[in-house]
Amino acid sequence: MSVGLTRYGAGLEEIEGLLASWGEKGYRARQLWEGLYRRRAPLEELTDLGKGLRDRLATALPLELAPCTGTTADKGATTKWLWSATAGNPGVEVETVLMHYRDRATVCVSSQAGCAMGCTFCATGQAGFERHLTAGEIVEQVARAQHASRSRVSNVVFMGMGEPLANFDATWAAVERLYDHFGISARHLTVSTVGVVPGIRRLAEQTLPVTLAVSLHAPDDKLRDELVPLNRRYPLDEVLAAAGEYLDRSGRRLSFEYAMIDGVNDSPAQAGALARRLAGMGAHVNLIPLNPTPGFGVPASPPERIARFADRLRAGGVNATVRRNRGTSIDAACGQLRARHRHAPATMVGATREE
Ligand code: SAH
Ligand code: SF4
Repeated sequence: MSVGLTRYGAGLEEIEGLLASWGEKGYRARQLWEGLYRRRAPLEELTDLGKGLRDRLATALPLELAPCTGTTADKGATTKWLWSATAGNPGVEVETVLMHYRDRATVCVSSQAGCAMGCTFCATGQAGFERHLTAGEIVEQVARAQHASRSRVSNVVFMGMGEPLANFDATWAAVERLYDHFGISARHLTVSTVGVVPGIRRLAEQTLPVTLAVSLHAPDDKLRDELVPLNRRYPLDEVLAAAGEYLDRSGRRLSFEYAMIDGVNDSPAQAGALARRLAGMGAHVNLIPLNPTPGFGVPASPPERIARFADRLRAGGVNATVRRNRGTSIDAACGQLRARHRHAPATMVGATREE
């Protein structure tokens, strides 16, 4: 998308070429690279490079994300940014969330501006597709969150806006950069998909065993066809078979996401049906209370029903946890900050929830 080099899109060789063309000493490129990646510092803080060189680099290797809003919640444990990705004309809006937990710091990145998959309950799906993000734009989201973070980012999840496996090449290039240069372990890199079967197969061909999360939301094709239109193309059996292949190839435990929607997908019978489908896969199911969105009139399931659903899954031999909503007060679910920003500028919202 972008023309020319960018701060987190450029590879080491390109940076070496650039600095050589300026007549800089050979070790400067490595110094810059180590600063941006291993030290994870912003360019302005790389004082060993000297002010003149830093200024020149800032122009030659521009950042690609301009902040629109940044909001915090959960007593500072959750921060969410809405950025304008400035390549192209006009820029597009994308979101990133940083979440601190007791033992880790996780960044949730967007892989596309918008999404073409059209899941009915998802704010991003409701708004439609704008464009793919580049690997540099994905990596920059992690870098910018790291610069604002009080601890070292240990995990990255591709659970922001967009379908990462519909933008496979950029997603994978970002994964490799995060692994090789930010030093994030493969297990701590999670790619979440709505069930793009060819993408899951391609993922299985890679040597880096990242964690795969599959968004299910329904135990049968009839309901899933309604919630997740892609199910009509890749029905549950095919999605689960591809996920099973990934498990065999990578040895990584599978995760399944399941948004709990009041009276739609949350009955004990549906939990039983889901447990039967997932039996023997050694999978882990994350139950996520639905975040309400403007275009979907049904609320989240009540907590007791979610707890019962989880119990029923466990009784059927399937691991399940209820995921706490993070940053609900700042619309920190997929696509929601942007949806609100379009109607009225987002305001800073105070802390409301405990971890
Ligand atoms: N496109 C990928 C990754 C981005 S969405 C996917 O669908 O997996 C990340 C997660 O947020 C998915 O599990 C998605 O189903 C979930 N999600 C989307 N909208 C939501 C909402 N309104 N409430 C709760 N979870 C939601
Ligand atoms: Fe796209 Fe995921 Fe939202 Fe579905 S849930 S519309 S795949 S971002």
